[in-house]
Amino acid sequence: VAGIGNIYSDEILWASNIHPLTIVSRIPESKIKTLWKNTKILLTKGIDFGGDSMSDYRNIDGLRGQFQYHHKAYRQKNKPCPKKGCKGSIERIVVGGRSTHYCPIHQILI
Ligand SMILES: [Zn+2]
Repeated sequence: VAGIGNIYSDEILWASNIHPLTIVSRIPESKIKTLWKNTKILLTKGIDFGGDSMSDYRNIDGLRGQFQYHHKAYRQKNKPCPKKGCKGSIERIVVGGRSTHYCPIHQILI
């Protein structure tokens, strides 16, 4: 989705079990639905936590957002994948000049 930042795209793909290099046309219908659901959930979550503030962003209360403490993939390189039952660890690759974090075990390239 255009305009979705690195943080959200890493988190959404991680939650949806989709490899960051997946060609969109190869994603099955059922996964597209999951993808949309997770996009909505995560964007809402980001707002609920007061925004994301890896940088200097402050919300209206002058506080840093809390979403960065809930990242599952973004900037979690070499950390164990927090997905239930998954024994992978998060890896970092560069896709189109952007750094991307994913789990090679449950985010399989199809
Ligand atoms: Zn995993």
